[in-house]
Amino acid sequence: MSADIIDGKAYAAGLRERVAGLVPAFRAATGRAPGLAVVLVGEDPASQVYVRSKHKATVEAGMESFEHRLPATASQDELLATVERLNADDRVDGILVQLPLPPHIDEKRVIATIDPDKDVDGFHVVNAGRLAVGEEGYVPCTPLGCLMLLKDRLGDLSGLEAVVIGRSNIVGKPMAALLLAENCTVTLAHSRTRDLAGVVRRADIVVAAVGRPEMVRGDWIRPGATVIDVGINRVPGAEPGKTRLVGDVATAEAAAVAGAITPVPGGVGPMTIAVLLRNTLVAAHRRAGVPLATDAI
Ligand code: NAD
Repeated sequence: MSADIIDGKAYAAGLRERVAGLVPAFRAATGRAPGLAVVLVGEDPASQVYVRSKHKATVEAGMESFEHRLPATASQDELLATVERLNADDRVDGILVQLPLPPHIDEKRVIATIDPDKDVDGFHVVNAGRLAVGEEGYVPCTPLGCLMLLKDRLGDLSGLEAVVIGRSNIVGKPMAALLLAENCTVTLAHSRTRDLAGVVRRADIVVAAVGRPEMVRGDWIRPGATVIDVGINRVPGAEPGKTRLVGDVATAEAAAVAGAITPVPGGVGPMTIAVLLRNTLVAAHRRAGVPLATDAI
């Protein structure tokens, strides 16, 4: 048996198109485009790449992009003042502070300052709480993207055994909450889990968000399971000096057993920005009181 490859790149492109397709109606109703503000502190090269691609995707979707760049030496107060200004700016529907922040800045304090109704990254504790109790809010982009791929593949997830590996606030915990809300029986596994392979073997759905190259092996996978690989790990390539990206799952081994699997790259990765645009569109509609059928996107 050989698993179907879940094409996250294609799904993300479709989602971005659907989002862009809904922008003109919002513009017509409100006289403005949805706006996303991205704040970058310092010169971290990876962060600069992310911010650039978020800006490009925002503009391509017909939305307004506001970029705020602060030097690495910016004080915590300066950053908090920037966030407060964006909270008060009516053109801004979504605020994203690019992480990681320089060590002298308290990340938690910064996230806590973002208006939860503009927190399109879903990192604010208010949004974590809303997700935990099933209220409307904002869900972190990567796990919401994983859920979209799962529902696209499997339809109704009710009653399925789901194992999430990794309990970070950004991926693992919200992923488990989302699967629970879909009526899965959820196990949240982590570094202290006993017999991880045995736990994973029960799963109809495996989501790996660990950050350990190819940790999940083929013989951990139940035949026919759906495997979502969130991991992005850079490892030495075949040629000296070259690197390549691998996930948290040994893809070739797992694909021999699974029913479907996301590749790395081209699986979960492209979903994150697409969902960010989706969350921004939703935030714009909610803030303006304009109805939006979220099942349309
Ligand atoms: P993290 O380091 O915050 O959390 C990793 C989790 O894995 C921890 O909860 C830990 O308990 C668990 N873990 C560590 N070792 C383990 C082991 N041996 N067995 C079982 N569990 C173990 O990482 P994160 O931010 O959740 O990211 C996880 C991976 O997903 C990384 O590779 C990251 O690059 C990737 N990621 C991708 C996207 C994307 O595709 N857009 C977004 C976010 C994260």
